[in-house]
Amino acid sequence: MADHDTGADGAALLSLRGVWREFPAGDGTIAALREVELDIAAGEMVAIVGQSGSGKSTLMNVLGCLDQPTRGHYRIAGREVASLGPDELAALRREHFGFIFQRYHLLSDLTAQGNVEMPAVYAGRTRAQRHERAHALLQRLGMADRLGHVPGKLSGGQQQRVSIARALMNGGSVILADEPTGALDSASGAEVMRILEELHAQGHTIILVTHDMGVARHAERIVEIRDGAIVADSGRRAAAAPAAALPAAGPAAGGGRLGAWLDGLGEALHMALLAMNAHRLRTLLTMLGIIIGIASVVSVVALGEGSRQKVLANISSIGTNTVEVFSGQGFGDPRSARIQTLRPADADALAEQSYVDSVTPNVQTSVTARFGNVDASASVSGVGEQYFRVKGLKIAQGSAFSGAAIARYAQVAVIDENTRKKLFPNTAPVGQVIFLGSMPVYVVGVTAKKDSAFGPNSESLNIFVPYTTAMRRLIGQGHLRSVTVRVADHAPMDAAAQGISQLLERRHGRVDFYVLNTDSIRQTIESTTRTMTLLIASIAVISLVVGGIGVMNIMLVSVTERTAEIGVRMAVGARRRDIQQQFLIEAVLVCLLGGALGIAAALAFGAVFSHFSQDFSLAFSPLAMLAAFACATLIGVVFGYLPARNAARLNPVEALSRD
Ligand code: ADP
Ligand code: MG
Repeated sequence: MADHDTGADGAALLSLRGVWREFPAGDGTIAALREVELDIAAGEMVAIVGQSGSGKSTLMNVLGCLDQPTRGHYRIAGREVASLGPDELAALRREHFGFIFQRYHLLSDLTAQGNVEMPAVYAGRTRAQRHERAHALLQRLGMADRLGHVPGKLSGGQQQRVSIARALMNGGSVILADEPTGALDSASGAEVMRILEELHAQGHTIILVTHDMGVARHAERIVEIRDGAIVADSGRRAAAAPAAALPAAGPAAGGGRLGAWLDGLGEALHMALLAMNAHRLRTLLTMLGIIIGIASVVSVVALGEGSRQKVLANISSIGTNTVEVFSGQGFGDPRSARIQTLRPADADALAEQSYVDSVTPNVQTSVTARFGNVDASASVSGVGEQYFRVKGLKIAQGSAFSGAAIARYAQVAVIDENTRKKLFPNTAPVGQVIFLGSMPVYVVGVTAKKDSAFGPNSESLNIFVPYTTAMRRLIGQGHLRSVTVRVADHAPMDAAAQGISQLLERRHGRVDFYVLNTDSIRQTIESTTRTMTLLIASIAVISLVVGGIGVMNIMLVSVTERTAEIGVRMAVGARRRDIQQQFLIEAVLVCLLGGALGIAAALAFGAVFSHFSQDFSLAFSPLAMLAAFACATLIGVVFGYLPARNAARLNPVEALSRD
């Protein structure tokens, strides 16, 4: 049946056959339209009159495809409307119908020009086409000097002229006017009627609803409706006037589908910004959850990354290819102090191994170091002659002590830069005698400054003496605190650490030591920071979810508040996906803005933080920020989906009737 265009019963453009429209009321239904039979030909001007509540608006909504009959057939140019989907109905409203309402139904945020252009946005016309046509239409209706005014700044008659221009925007071959003069003074009403007659003369089909016979007399045909049924029809009069003088609406978007889509997106973005601007405080409060969530994610990740980098820098300053052997079972083992099996001979045995580059025994104590009348507490390390090679320390002045010096318990020392600064601010240190406690030693060398060992220690004074000297003359013990091995460059770390363990186990007969390589320290630290980051990040994620729910909540409120707007958009031909897209974009925009503010807050926090703490900083990664934005977008989409879908599924008539 879709194709038999204008059927046997004449050139009816709109044809109603046995149409009922019933609304549920209490337990039963009430019929707003009963058994309506009506044919309207192209080019007619028809007035539908009846008392208030007689069903005029219901009939009008059915004719304009805003509403559907409960029973009966409605055909437009031979096509059965019941067989059309929501998007096809939207297309009909967009391309063929133009609505004029009693209370204008203009969008208050948009200017006169913006309101007039709206149907063309959904029709996919280019910006230039829209501007030009809206301009021309408003000019023809005597509104050329009001293009930039919002509806609130226009009189009723002017608003109605804007709504007429909107109805004509996409052509408006059938104009449906529901009480167009009902809210106007008589002069403005007469002006509106004059415009409608003029449009009729140009070939537009005009259907006019009114309860006022004076207004109805402008039409060439009067249909009277009472209690939902047609009780009188004056019938068609003259043949319709030909040819529209109005410039055609022009072809759809010159820029192609992508261009049209981008343009629609731009308009939706514009609308979203207007809506957000209209409720600034509410928008900001809505964003709060997102702001807090994003700010904490970004700064926590930066904090974790900053501390990780700091620690890794310290570790690599120690050297990445060293293995340290301690007595005991592990860090903080209380028995390790009583285990005295780690001996200088162990270090000698390790030095023999092929995978070992160099080895040093270590003992450790603290003393008061004194030169002249300056004294300071210093940490003394008893080490072997290869110590400086193992640790990668350079000698800046003088030289390190030799193997011979170690063999004869020589009272010589190498000091570090901190010690030199403290004890020898003005004197050349090499060749001077300093006291370590009560033991005098010759200073033979000064190490070059090196980027810190572990954090706070970087300020401490370090003095190196032969381990033999330290063990006999300073500490009085025969065992070592630790042995540090530098693994040969060609040897793999894990294999070397294993080889060291096996050798020492053979020598001691049991495992009374533990081996640390910097690799394993790094792994421990990395996994610790990862765990911390994960923990705090998951708290931040909770904040983001709460923020998302806040966004959803506000969007649901916004949809309810703007139901009338949605109805208007649907009446001028917005598809469901246009509406859905508009609300989704708004949700995403709220989240993105929240994300941007959150990142700004995190950066501000980082600036404050680094101001107060010198040896610790936040490392912001662009990747984390990008991820934050992606996250914000995702939240917008996920939590904006439900409200947007609700908006898109609204019934146009119900939406329009709400205010
Ligand atoms: P008119 O425009 O002639 O004043 P309407 O078409 O608006 O009349 O309404 C006709 C009848 O249908 C009225 O009795 C009205 O109460 C009823 N009606 C209209 N819309 C609805 C609706 N959405 N739900 C229930 N009843 C409705
Ligand atoms: Mg009405």
